[in-house]
Amino acid sequence: MHVVRTVAGFTGALAAARQHGGDVGLVPTMGALHAGHRSLIDRAVEAHAHVAVSIFVNPLQFDRGEDLASYPRTPESDLAVCAEAGVGTVFAPSVSEMYPRPPVTTVRVGRLGEPFEGACRPGHFDGVATVVAKLFSMAGPSTAYFGEKDFQQLVVVRRMAADLSMPVEVVACPTVRAPDGLALSSRNALLSPADRRAASVLWRALRTGAAAVAAGSDPRAVAGAMAEAVGGEPRARLDYAAAVDGADLSVPRAVADPPSLRLLVAARLGGVRLIDNCDGRSGPGALPGPGAAARRMAAAVGAGTPRSVAGSRDGDGPAAGSLAPGDGEG
Ligand code: AMP
Repeated sequence: MHVVRTVAGFTGALAAARQHGGDVGLVPTMGALHAGHRSLIDRAVEAHAHVAVSIFVNPLQFDRGEDLASYPRTPESDLAVCAEAGVGTVFAPSVSEMYPRPPVTTVRVGRLGEPFEGACRPGHFDGVATVVAKLFSMAGPSTAYFGEKDFQQLVVVRRMAADLSMPVEVVACPTVRAPDGLALSSRNALLSPADRRAASVLWRALRTGAAAVAAGSDPRAVAGAMAEAVGGEPRARLDYAAAVDGADLSVPRAVADPPSLRLLVAARLGGVRLIDNCDGRSGPGALPGPGAAARRMAAAVGAGTPRSVAGSRDGDGPAAGSLAPGDGEG
């Protein structure tokens, strides 16, 4: 496994990999890798001769300095996870390598980036789209892997690739959850023990929303049921809850209308903002249970012997039909 820190090194490593007869699968991440990231990497490793993982906490997508500063960073264990999984190249650049000057040319996402996460975090998706476009341009992957966990991001990146005719297939991977249903996230490490226990309320809210869909409620009532479920947990503060068309994040007139219905929820516990979502018709699934989670975590932290590591080691305005308390904090 090569660990590269420079754009030239990354582009060169992947050009060489392609020349040796393989296509490249790319998994963009911000590090602090857990079993959710590992599921994307495993999927890529199964499908591609060469897999590249980028690890970069992108300042362009953070609107608050402290959030950026407190974002978890675990560089050593990230490399172990990648080596264990069979990754070919890890790209872990510095901020000044990625942005030698403040960029003048950036990607503007438009309406898909405005509601939900975009309303809570202004400019967030422009920052995401810009860094993903840069990574696509450097890596030239045939396929890039994104988690359904960040559903709006997935929709935004898919649409960007299509709108800008980027020759990259965007593959969606299902959300990996802890035994109590909480979606794995690097931010979970920032929760206090009491908030961590309370955080499974997001999963319960999704279950409640899916039950309301099954009962034939309209999108507003589904959102209301999810909001009420979050409200039942005194430690949680709702940012938004909504039932949307999974293709374009618009709120449908009836839950039966869109081919793909998605339930979205976001809440704060202490100072930590958590998001989750699920298919509106099948719900977030059964609780994974401790056995499955233990196996996944063991895999993610590299329970086996890592393969060799080479290279430089240094080197709220919610959409209509959604509900939000309107605290305006973002
Ligand atoms: P991040 O490092 O948070 O930017 O995430 C990198 C990629 O991993 C994104 O495509 C995420 O959607 C995905 N991801 C994060 N958490 C999970 C999870 N629990 N299950 C599946 N994919 C995830």
